[in-house]
Amino acid sequence: MKNLYLLIVLQLIACCIYAQKTSIKNIDFKVDSVLKLMTLDEKIGQLNQLCIDFSSGPLITDQKSLEKIVVNGQAGSFFYAADMDLKIKLQKIAMNKSRMKIPLMFALDVIHGYKIVAPIPLAQSCSWDLAAIEKSERVSAEMSAAHGLHWTFTPMMDVTRDPRWGRVMEGSGEDSWLGAKIAVARVNGLQGNDLSKNNTVLACAKHLAGYGGAESGREYNSVEMSERQLREFYLPPFKAAVEAGVGSIMTSFNTISAVPSVSNKHLVKDILKTEWNYKGFVVSDMEAIGELLNHGIAEDTMDAAATAMNNQAADMDMSSVVYHKSLKKLVQQGKVKESYIDDACKRILRIKFALGLFQNPMGYFDKNRRDASLKNPEYQAATMDMAKKSLVLLKNEGNILPLSKKTKTIALIGPFADGKLNRDYMSTWTYHAEQKDVITLLTGIKSKLDPNSQILVASVCGFMGDCKTNEIENAVKLAKMSDVVILAIGENGDVNGECKSRTNLDLPGNQKELVKAIMALGKPTVAVLFNGRPLTLEWESKNIPAILEAWQPGTQAGNAVAEVLFGDYNPSGKLTMSFPINVGQIPVYYNQLPTGRTKTKPTDNMKSTFMDIPNEPIYPFGFGLSYTTFDYSDITLSNQEITATDTLTISVKITNTGKVAGEEIVQLYIRDLVADISRPVKELRGFEKILLNTNESKIVKFKISLEDLKYWNADLVYKADKGKFKVMIGPNSADTKEKIFSLK
Ligand code: BGC
Repeated sequence: MKNLYLLIVLQLIACCIYAQKTSIKNIDFKVDSVLKLMTLDEKIGQLNQLCIDFSSGPLITDQKSLEKIVVNGQAGSFFYAADMDLKIKLQKIAMNKSRMKIPLMFALDVIHGYKIVAPIPLAQSCSWDLAAIEKSERVSAEMSAAHGLHWTFTPMMDVTRDPRWGRVMEGSGEDSWLGAKIAVARVNGLQGNDLSKNNTVLACAKHLAGYGGAESGREYNSVEMSERQLREFYLPPFKAAVEAGVGSIMTSFNTISAVPSVSNKHLVKDILKTEWNYKGFVVSDMEAIGELLNHGIAEDTMDAAATAMNNQAADMDMSSVVYHKSLKKLVQQGKVKESYIDDACKRILRIKFALGLFQNPMGYFDKNRRDASLKNPEYQAATMDMAKKSLVLLKNEGNILPLSKKTKTIALIGPFADGKLNRDYMSTWTYHAEQKDVITLLTGIKSKLDPNSQILVASVCGFMGDCKTNEIENAVKLAKMSDVVILAIGENGDVNGECKSRTNLDLPGNQKELVKAIMALGKPTVAVLFNGRPLTLEWESKNIPAILEAWQPGTQAGNAVAEVLFGDYNPSGKLTMSFPINVGQIPVYYNQLPTGRTKTKPTDNMKSTFMDIPNEPIYPFGFGLSYTTFDYSDITLSNQEITATDTLTISVKITNTGKVAGEEIVQLYIRDLVADISRPVKELRGFEKILLNTNESKIVKFKISLEDLKYWNADLVYKADKGKFKVMIGPNSADTKEKIFSLK
């Protein structure tokens, strides 16, 4: 009878909620009604997230113990949840056999596509195409939802200036302002405009915060920074994601000023939950609450659970099982307030309601929908579109590209010529990708080449780039017989990603030997780079006439690259991360501070420089070539002076001066010339991607208002300074034309 009553109450709550458009904000009183019916054990159960694959310690050892956990309401969510039948089974148990009948939430890291794989996020960011990025995430969400997933641990929005850190592949590069725009596009793509629909997935903004600032780029390493730097550089994408309605946030593994994020009250409780009024829940990173012991700030698991919960820094414990083991005792001993557990549980239930799980717990488990999703042509088209837009042409000396489709003989050489390994054109985050559907570079090139042309292939060097002498000799032999050489070189997806920090960013292995041997032949040569982070390419950038940055392009790799190589698509991507000359130059980034001693002419000495290399990267932020050229002229400002309430309009005329149509990403930067504190020499504040036919001109207009001029000053006041500003417009961060205006 009691159970029946409970069921009726829950159904009523669900119906009321879904009679209106679901919004995270307006379901609170219903959540409270559920919370009132729950025991302390059940509330703690919701805070417990376990690996579905029995890897969460002794709690789950087999199928039986897994089911028991669900019957007892001891877990609210499972991750690594790919098996549809298992998910169906567990959800049925939760809905029919557990006392509270609270639906489970199933999660997986779907980072850049599920079965069909889009380019890695860093590559996507190089498109500067927010609509395409949103679409790419929409496709990813629809596929994931069709495969029974409610939640994905993406987008990663850790801004970083350090390519030694392997996870740069998962972010949007070095610029926080652009990162915030991309974060919003990705959250919108994943969560759609109504999270309760069963084709959306809950996004997870991660990792709060500062993870990309790890000392020496070493994975999981400590981070030391000022609050000012945190707010100005690392937090904006998170704040933007919160404003866009992201429903979950994951804390980072690192410490900031010696405080691990998972127990960082200031970061999570004060800034995120209070200052930003975030209503979703916060999940720890994997095992991170338990790792408070390793950080040396918790004596035992009881202490770890108390520290994370009392700081209200982690609502959900991802797999360390510390909450499960300790929270009840801690409440009984008066060491943790039950109201904190209530708040955490409420946040999780709020999102389960928002996802539509109470109303339709089985709504994500339709096998027909799953199977149809694999064949949806729209998904392949969006993936191809994203892949093409992510490619960045770094060099094209003598217009060697595009190649003629009638080239008589092409030699295709290198580890990525006809990649057959899972990670050749994808990252480590693609466990569930359909490897058989991946278009290799060879396949893509063949599809473009004239039937009378010949392609000689040397799939040499292993995935770590270890080229054997005989492989190099064979490659040279083939190259000699060809008219053009395409080098498919770079870094396999197993060499970047989580826990893939490197101190040497040259092409892995001895690929450079292969490259040098080929270049010695003097043949027209194009390098196609497959990699997940900026590499140090000093020799290559000087000696190879054409370089195309392909990143890890995903399922459509070969097709997308071939479209560019043969001119069917004019490349338009621009780098979102600078390419350093060597590792010693790191961090090298465009929005640096001016210093008191900046070199302005070659004869200057005692300036802020290196003795051995220039300060500038090889390829700067915002850089990328096209098969056409663009002229920038007639920069005009609507006013020389603006007030705090005015909007300044900046216009620039862009003309396609080349022989083919092309897209250009026009960039606008500002500099606060005199401020309370030293301000960066350039800060991106606008961009627009335009398509121009040959000889066509367009006027691009940007708007600047007070908000664009604000920054966090030394007293942590977010404000704009009166006085002069420089506005700079150009095709990349290193090549701009400028004007001055004042804020009155
Ligand atoms: C990563 C997270 C990821 C989690 C679950 C952790 O090691 O840092 O980004 O979501 O594992 O796979």
